[in-house]
Formats: sequence, structure tokens, C-alpha cells
Amino acid sequence: MYKATLIPGDGIGPEVISAATSVIEAAGVDIKWDEKQVGQAAMAKYNNPLPEDTINSIEINRIALKGPTTTEIGKGFRSANISLRQRLNLYANIRPIKTIEGAKTKYRDVDLVIFRENTEDLYMGIEHMIGKDAAESIKIITREASERIASMAFSYAVKEKRKKVTCAHKANIMKLSDGLFLSSVRSVAGKFPDIEYEEVIADGLFMNMVMNPQDYDVLVLPNLYGDLLSEMSAGLVGGLGVVPGVNIGVEAAVFEPTHGTALDIAGQGIANPTAAILCGVMLLRHLGEKDAAERIYNSVSRVIKNGKHVTRDLGGTASTLDMTKAIIDSLPGS
Ligand code: ATP
Repeated sequence: MYKATLIPGDGIGPEVISAATSVIEAAGVDIKWDEKQVGQAAMAKYNNPLPEDTINSIEINRIALKGPTTTEIGKGFRSANISLRQRLNLYANIRPIKTIEGAKTKYRDVDLVIFRENTEDLYMGIEHMIGKDAAESIKIITREASERIASMAFSYAVKEKRKKVTCAHKANIMKLSDGLFLSSVRSVAGKFPDIEYEEVIADGLFMNMVMNPQDYDVLVLPNLYGDLLSEMSAGLVGGLGVVPGVNIGVEAAVFEPTHGTALDIAGQGIANPTAAILCGVMLLRHLGEKDAAERIYNSVSRVIKNGKHVTRDLGGTASTLDMTKAIIDSLPGS
């Protein structure tokens, strides 16, 4: 039996995370979940959006499945998500963007993986007012953080038999900060002669990504461009409801859907559980449970392709529970 931390989260989080745990259970993998809180749910219980108790649990289990959590924009507490990443040194955010047959989208055959640096750049929260009418935000880029995200992207490319790594930057404008990111990635690329390596300016990447997403394989980006690209790329394969992700470091991995708390549909039982279930698939692969992971992935694909039991965002009328049940029923042996 495995042990993992479970953070249901806020908004639609609890609805989609319970879908993921029930599918994992139905696939026959025994995980003992240690349920903890982050965000609004933690504020309500501990008056702290990121309790030590939650951090301790993830440090012990080294694996967590997490729903989206709320951070109120521009007020009081710092984003619990950013604090969590920094506390556990989850230095990489990985998002596989893959066409799921049957999902409504303008593109076919997209299959790329985004490696976003997760600890620095403009996300360090170093900002201040200069007088009343100006504000300054500081962008930090270090060689160490840039090289380790690049190493992770290239190592992944080798392990998964991918062909190319693309590094996106704006070193033409931010010559020092993005320049350092670029030269760091380039030096790592030199150690992987069998993987094709290309460099693109971030704005050009965004344009080409909406024209020819099939041109890309593995991408590595600093934090801010990575955030924007991940969200945009979700739109290439069916939207936020279908894209999983993981925040990962040396000590821990926190699997978490790309989407937010979706308060507009929370509590209605209509959220698409696919992203959360595919986070479960990533978590199982991480544990080495490849067979169960493939069975669940194939079952999700079958249900989406069939189109009868899909949620509204995918053009159907099914509830979260209906779609989850269809995925469980479609598992081999069910
Ligand atoms: P947050 O502030 O937590 O990021 P948000 O509502 O601004 O939340 P998302 O939660 O990512 O951002 O949602 C953006 C849109 O996508 C919303 O209209 C939401 O209903 C829709 N959406 C997001 N996730 C899902 C899902 N799993 N199923 C269906 N629709 C979703």
C-alpha cells in the first residue's frame, strides 16, 4: 500500500479530486490518503492558508494529489500555491499537453510537454511601491535554477524518447536575466547531443504555437512565460478541464490540475473531472504503477471519444459523477 497526501482544495477541487481517488481505487491501486488543507479550506480551519501540518504531511509522504486552491487577488496572504512550491522546493512545473481524441478542439495530434521553472523570475514576489504612483517588481534568474529545470527537461526527453527541446526566452530585450536563462539552458543542451535543441523568442513561440503546435515536443521556459504558455496550450487540446500537471522537486511531487477553483460552477456537480483524473494517471506513473496508469488513461480516452458521458465543457450533459462512473465502468475488468 502507498501513502500520499490528499488536498481536496477549494471551489470545484473537492468534486474533481474525489473523482480521481475513486478512479484510482477502481483501478486496484491501494493508496492510503492523508487528507490535509491548503487555501480557503485551511483558512477556515487554521486561519493560515498553508498550515505546517500540511507541509509536514507532504514532506513525509513525498507525494500529494492536490485540487486548486483560492488566493484572494491583491490581499493579505501571499499565494499559498507559491509558498508551497518554495517551501518544498518544487522547482519544476510539468504539463503534458496531448490531444485526447474526441475532445472538442481546433487541433489534432498535439503532443508536447512544458517544463516551467517554478521558483524564481517575477514570481518571487519582490515588489514595492516607489512613492504613490510607481511600482517595481524584481525579476530574479539564477544559473542554478535555470540549469536544473533544463536538466530535468533534457533528462525527460531522453527517458521518454522525445526528439527535441525548445527553449523560449526574451533575451533580445532582457539581455541579462533572460540571457542568463538562455546560456544556462544552452550549456545543459551541450551535454545531450542526441536531443535536437532549438531556441525561440517567446512571442514568436506563442504565434507559432497557435498555428503549428505539432512543431513542438519538449519545451523549457522561465516561470512567467511558462505560466502563460501552459494555460494557452491547454486551449489547444480541449481546455483547462482536461490538462493535468505536477509541481516537482527532489524531495516531493504535488500533482495538480491546471485549472483553478472555477467558482462559477463550484458545488453544481458539473465540473470536468478529466484533469484531476489525469493527475492521478501521472501520480501512478510516478509510483511505477504503469499498468494501472495506462488502463485509466485509455478509459478516459474511450469515454471522451464516445462522447455520451462527458461534461458540458466537452459538449455533453453529464455530471462530474456520471462521467467518473463511465470512466470506472470502462476500465478493463470492471
Ligand atoms: P482561479 O481564480 O482559482 O484561478 P478561475 O475561475 O479564475 O479560478 P479557472 O478555475 O481556471 O479560473 O476557470 C476558468 C474557466 O474555465 C471558468 O469559466 C471555469 O468554469 C472553466 N473551468 C475550469 N476548470 C473546469 C473544469 N474542470 N470543468 C469545467 N469547466 C472548468
